[in-house]
This record gives sequence, C-alpha cells and structure tokens, in this order.
Amino acid sequence: MISPQDLDPLSGTAPARATVAPLDLDLIRRYAGPAPRYTSYPPATQFHADLAALDLNARLAEDNTLEAGPISLYVHLPFCESLCWYCGCNTVITRRQGSADDYLDLLTRELDLTVARMRPGRSVVQLHLGGGTPTFLTPEQLRRLTRLLRERFVFAKDAEISVEVDPRRLRQEHVAALREMGLNRASLGVQDTDAAVQRAINRLQPHAQNHQAVDWLRAAGVTSINLDLIHGLPLQTTETFARTLDDVLALAPERLSVFSYAHVPWMKPAQRIFEQRAQLPEPEDKLAMFALAHERLTAAGYLDVGLDHFARPDDELAVALHDGTLHRNFQGYTTRAGASLYGFGVSSISQTPNSYRQNHKTLGAWRDALDGGQLPVERGLWLTPEDQRRRELVMDIMCRRRLDFAALDRRLGVAVTERYAAELASLADLEADGIVERDASGIRVTPRGAPLLRVVASRFDPTFQAAARRHAQAV
Ligand code: SF4
Repeated sequence: MISPQDLDPLSGTAPARATVAPLDLDLIRRYAGPAPRYTSYPPATQFHADLAALDLNARLAEDNTLEAGPISLYVHLPFCESLCWYCGCNTVITRRQGSADDYLDLLTRELDLTVARMRPGRSVVQLHLGGGTPTFLTPEQLRRLTRLLRERFVFAKDAEISVEVDPRRLRQEHVAALREMGLNRASLGVQDTDAAVQRAINRLQPHAQNHQAVDWLRAAGVTSINLDLIHGLPLQTTETFARTLDDVLALAPERLSVFSYAHVPWMKPAQRIFEQRAQLPEPEDKLAMFALAHERLTAAGYLDVGLDHFARPDDELAVALHDGTLHRNFQGYTTRAGASLYGFGVSSISQTPNSYRQNHKTLGAWRDALDGGQLPVERGLWLTPEDQRRRELVMDIMCRRRLDFAALDRRLGVAVTERYAAELASLADLEADGIVERDASGIRVTPRGAPLLRVVASRFDPTFQAAARRHAQAV
C-alpha cells in the first residue's frame, strides 16, 4: 500500500519527497477570489441557448461514430422531502411519491429519444445517480429505473455504479434495490453532525443515522463510501467542526469531501435566513475550518486529491492521482470517465469530445420539451479545436498538476510553449510565490500551491481572464 508520505502525485512516480504540506493560509488569502471549479472547460457559464447553432442531432451523430468509446451515464433525480436552507442543488420539494412515477415516465421518453440517436452497444463504464435525493424513490421505483437503464444500455462487468445518499431517507430496502442495480459506491451527505448547526440549516440528522447508513451499505458489499461535509455553514465554529471531523473519521470512509458553503441568496433565496439571523461564520473562520479539516484528514492518512476531495491512499481515486489517470467531470474528480457523458433528467449535463449540452432546469420546461418529442436541452456549447486544446491544458493542471510540454506537443499537435507563450509568461507571479515550478520540460504545481489549482488553471482560460480584467477595471 502507498502511504501519503511516499506519494507524490505530481511526478507520476512514487518519489521520496513528502507531499503533505500544511496549508499556507497567507498564500491562499492572497490568491483568494472567484475562479471556476473547472468541472468542465469551458465552464458551464459559457454555455449558450442558441439551439440551432448547437445542432444537437449532428452532435449526437458525430459522437456515435464507429470509433466511439465507452460512455458514462448520469441520472438526476430532483425530489427532496424538505429543503435544506443552504442547498444549491436543483431540487423539487414534495412529499408526493407519485411525482417519482411521473418523472420515470418522462425519463423513459428522454432515454428513448437519446438512445435512438446512439450507436448500439457502447459500453457503460460508469453510472451515477444524483439529486435531489435518489432514495426519495421507493425501492420499487428504483427497480423500475434499473430496468429502464439495463434494457437500453450494455453495462461493463466492472462498471462503477454510484449513488448520492441522504441518510435521513435511506431504508435497508433501498440498499437492496440499489445493490440489484449493481451499486458499488455511495456518497453520503453528512454536512455537519452538530445539532445546533443542523437546526440552523433545517436538516436534522442524528449521527446514528449516518452510522446506520454506512453499516447497511457495508453489509451489502458496497466497497467505497464517500462522506460529504460542508464548511462555512451557519453557527459552525472550528470547535464544532473538529467534533464533526472526529465523528466522520470514526466511520472510516474511503473518501471525504469538504465543500465550501456557497452563499448565493440572489439565486437561492432560502439562504437569506442566515443573513437575517447573522449566523454565518466570518471568512477567516471559514478558512480556519478548512485548514483544520486538511490537517486532521491528512494526519489520519487521507491524501489530498485536489480542491475539496480526500481519499485513502489505497482508494482508486488516490491511485488514479498517482498514476496520472484522474479525470474531472460534472460530479467532480473521478477515475473512469467514458469518452462521453450522457446526462438524463432535469438540469443534467452531457458531454461529448466536442460538445456540452444541458437540460432544462425546471421540471415544467423539461416536461414540455419531452411532451413535444424534443430532446429537452436548454443550452450548451460546441467546442472549437482551440477550446479542446485548452481543455487538455486545464484538465492536466486540475488532475495531474503538471504540464508536460513534449507530451502535450504530441497530443495537441501544436508547439505548446510557442502557442501559449503569453499564458505561460502569466505564471510568473505564481512561480515567484512557489505555487508552480517551471523548467524546460514543463510546469508543475507544487504541494504548497495545490490548494490553488483553480488559479493556475484559470491562467489558460481566456474567458475568465477577460472577465477578471473587466472586473478589475470596474473597481
Ligand atoms: S437533501 Fe440535498 S438536494 Fe435535497 S434539499 Fe437537502 S441538500 Fe438539497
């Protein structure tokens, strides 16, 4: 087994140098500021709604040439019984179980419309059920979803099948139905185990429910469990968050995600209540919580995979980081991205080698499109060859933390140091601050610079740089 002290994800080999650098908070403060998370490049903010220009049928046909490789599937299941006030997801709050039956009817139409445009037999290497709350569906509804998918797609024997689990809405019967689907990974929303914080966010979840969910999943043979935490929630302090970290570490998950709470009340009005009650921690306290999480999780043996993801050194995600095979898509870091990602359901995003397309974000618009026999796409983007080259650069930084000039010259068919001379020159301040190192063969993000991956990647993103310049001029 590789230990975190042995592992240098930057080199692609197992070197002697340790990579578990403590966070440099001054450096993070200096470069703090909005930057895309690069779950895609170009980021979803660049998608447009000109469907004629998107020419969906051509995109799908192109993606299904004889050479088309394996695919990933994502199914968005938007229903939740109650709203967590911090939530930034696309949700439909209801207690009407029949809503899920109606949704599955529509999903069947979307599957049929899409599959009719696909080359048969492409192997599914990854399926992710997200939400919302996938286990809002009853076990019988989950079995129906399994049939809908298995009747239309060929799954690889070792396909990764994962689900987002809300421990408050999980019964043992759900676990049985998900295992029949082939479930082998689960991601549990914990967020925080402190009762006062839970009351403040309208999400009461006794830790016993987390224990129970983990026990059921492990007993059913689920081999990889991720726990999601959020830092920066109302009433959180470093003391309460330290107890939450103790609680989740006791469950020994293979992976942990420590997300930063995104306060966007103009988009998510329920978040206003935190301002009205003056409950949000100060930015400095929020940063201290992340520093605490980083210190505790790496001390407990987890590897910092990137941004907010941590994994045990023997977990596939950590091994992929080490091997240089890590990928990034709309679900975050992943190991087995297919050549294309097909998303189904409200607001889901699909990706082919040269296009993105996102479904309508409201249930009504999604349903109307399907009722009219149309693919329910609201917006998207067709990538130019230049976008595709920049995507390689951005994803190499986000996933491999390096740019290897010779390898990139071969892959992209251009002389990278010449074509991107201005972008590489723009790294000078990052180099001076020890965030990146550069020599004739390439650049690498240092362990000290790892929390700033997004900043490094953004230097290769002209749309972000243009927006940052406009913003700087405005202030
Ligand atoms: S359960 Fe998840 S998706 Fe549903 S409201 Fe809460 S945070 Fe949002």
